[in-house]
Amino acid sequence: VGSTLEVRELFYATPARRKFLKTDATELAHCVEAVRRHALARPDVGFAIWHDGRLVEQWRSAAGNDPDLQRLADVLGDEFVAQSVGVDHQGGPVRVRGRAGIPDAARSRPDQQFFYVNGRFVRDKVLAHAARSAYEDVLHGHRQPVYALYLEIDPARVDVNVHPTKIEVRFRDGREVHQAVRHAIENALAAPRAGEAAAPAAMPFFKPAASSPAPWTQPAMHFAAERGVGDAAAMWPGRRADPAPLLLSVPAASLPANDSAWPLGRAIAQLQGIYVLAENSQGLVIVDMHAAHERIVYERLKSQLDGAAITSQPLLIPATFAASPQEVATAETCAAVLNTLGLEITPFSPRTLAVRAVPGTLAEGDPVELARSVLAELAQHDASTVVQRAQNELLSTMACHGAVRANRRLTLDEMNALLRQMEATERSDQCNHGRPTWRQVSIRDLDGLFLRGR
Ligand SMILES: [Zn+2]
Repeated sequence: VGSTLEVRELFYATPARRKFLKTDATELAHCVEAVRRHALARPDVGFAIWHDGRLVEQWRSAAGNDPDLQRLADVLGDEFVAQSVGVDHQGGPVRVRGRAGIPDAARSRPDQQFFYVNGRFVRDKVLAHAARSAYEDVLHGHRQPVYALYLEIDPARVDVNVHPTKIEVRFRDGREVHQAVRHAIENALAAPRAGEAAAPAAMPFFKPAASSPAPWTQPAMHFAAERGVGDAAAMWPGRRADPAPLLLSVPAASLPANDSAWPLGRAIAQLQGIYVLAENSQGLVIVDMHAAHERIVYERLKSQLDGAAITSQPLLIPATFAASPQEVATAETCAAVLNTLGLEITPFSPRTLAVRAVPGTLAEGDPVELARSVLAELAQHDASTVVQRAQNELLSTMACHGAVRANRRLTLDEMNALLRQMEATERSDQCNHGRPTWRQVSIRDLDGLFLRGR
C-alpha cells in the first residue's frame, strides 16, 4: 500500500550538476531534512528512508487521539513536545495552529523552526520576523526559538508561485499574516506556566497521578503529586490563613483560600539575599527574586503605558541631585515623555534637577538613580519617537530600579506575596532579559543526590 519513491542516478543526464554535490553524508542529511518537512505536514502518512540498504529513519503513520502531536514527537523528539505549548489562534483571515517552544527550549541554531502554509513547508521572511518579534521579550541573547506552526489561509490571499521549488510564498497582505503569527505565539507564551499547571481539572494537586501526565505540559510544571494527601498536609501543620501582600508597592493578586492552589508553593527561606526558596508538592522551588520581581514590575508598567500613561506618585520631599548640562537639557526637552513615563523631573537651579514624582509602582526605589538612568536613555533617542520605539527598553530599565534588590531581607509574607504575583503575571517564567526566574527541584532530584531508593 502507498507509494515508494526511489531516487537513483540523479543528474545522470546533467553530469555537470553532479560536481556540485557535497559528501554523501551531507547530501543524505539534506534528503532526510526534506523528508522530515513532509513528514511534519502529513502525520497520517508513514515515512521510511533507506540509504544503501539501511533504514535511516522511519515514522509510522500517526494514529491515536492526537496524531499531530504524535508525529511532532516522532520527528522532533519527545523533548520538543514536552517543552512547547499549543498554539491555536484565529487572526483575521489567518488561522495559526501548532506548537511554540517555551523560552527554555531555545537552541543555539535555528534548526527547529517550521512554518507551513496550507499544508506546505515554506521559508518566509514575514513569518520568521513575526516569530522573532513574538519571542523578543522572553528570549535571552541570540537563542533560537523552536516551533512548528501551520497556517491556514484562503489560497487567494497567498501566491505560491514565486519560487521554482515553491518553498517561498508571497502574501497579499503581509501585515495581517505577521500580526496573526505574532499574536498567536505571544498569546501562547504569555500565560505563566506555573499557573497553567494548577488548573484543577488538568492537574489534581494532591491526588496520585492516575495516568501519564499530559504530554503538552512542561515537565517541570507537572504538579501531579507523587505524595499522598496525608504527607502533604503533614508538611504544613500550622498553615496561616492569609499572608499579607507586603512586597514593595505592588499589590498581590487575590490569594486563593488554600495553598494547594499555589503552583509555586509556600516560601520557606531566603538564600544569600538572592534566592527565595519555596516548597510545593513536587519538592523545592528556587526563585531568583530580583529577576522575578523585575518582570512583575515591567509587565505592570507596560500595561499602564498601554492604557495611556504610567500612574505617578508625587514625592513628599523632592529628591534633588547635581546634574550635568546634558541631563538638564534632556529633562527640559523630554518633559512630556517623562510625564507619560510617570516621572516629573524639573530644573531646581542651572546645575541641579529635582525629582518631584515617580511611577507609583517604583515608589520604593531610589528616585535619583531612576531619574539618571531614564535621562541617559532618553538622551540617546529622538524624544518624539522614543516612547514608541524604545518603550520596552525604557520600561525594562525602570523596572530594574523598582525591583527588589539583592541582599534586601524579605519576610516570609513578602516572599509569599512575590510567589503569588509571579503566578498571576504574564511571562513571569522569564525575566526581562529572557533568563529563567524560577526552577523546580523535585523530590526525585533530591533523592538522587542522596542515593535514596537505590
Ligand atoms: Zn535588574
